[in-house]
Amino acid sequence: MNWQEYQEAVGVLYEQMSEFGIVRKNITIPDKMTGQARQVDVWWEMKIENHSFKILIDAKKRKDKVDVKDVEEILMLANAVNADKAIIVTNNEWTKPAEVRAKFDGLDLRIFSIDEASDLIVEDKWVMCQVCNDDCVVLDNCGFFEIQGLVNWWLGGQCRSCKSIYIHCQDCGDKGIINNDTSWTCNCPYLWQFKNESIEIYQCKNDSEREVEFSNPQQMRIDFKE
Ligand SMILES: [Zn+2]
Ligand SMILES: [Zn+2]
Repeated sequence: MNWQEYQEAVGVLYEQMSEFGIVRKNITIPDKMTGQARQVDVWWEMKIENHSFKILIDAKKRKDKVDVKDVEEILMLANAVNADKAIIVTNNEWTKPAEVRAKFDGLDLRIFSIDEASDLIVEDKWVMCQVCNDDCVVLDNCGFFEIQGLVNWWLGGQCRSCKSIYIHCQDCGDKGIINNDTSWTCNCPYLWQFKNESIEIYQCKNDSEREVEFSNPQQMRIDFKE
């Protein structure tokens, strides 16, 4: 991807962002500690339901892989200007330590390639956690499984606050939440459970089994905006 193609892709990304938020470019925000004006290239104020999130975006074209130093720089700036999250979009790769460092911090920092960002920064992949109401979950994971010769795939994301997992079953289009206390049955019907830090999926034998699952008072279903 050359410089111009990257710039264009980033431009498209900002348009996507402005569909569910406000994108501001080249602004200054006072540092929460020193009061000094800090330069921010892109600032995205995103709204999910009644919550708003302030997200620092770094989408500079880079010659080198994103490294720990880059991540720390963004984290410090994001912190100083009170961002809720930060996203590094890059044309280049990133190092493993950079990824580890990004995940380690309390602030939600993600590193995406431009393709990942274009794929993920769409409204229906961002959802407010309905269990803790504390974090916005990004459906940035996906997986495949095979049951009786049928391959199914799903999208999922985890709340950083309460660890609940959001599943979007691509077979039936149903969406639900699972965590240590709650399993969920989609319309397929497959039973989804979270056990030992991983997702387990079972095929339900008949509809009555599904009825039982749905009548479980612990069961939660979520309604995404279609
Ligand atoms: Zn949560
Ligand atoms: Zn399903």
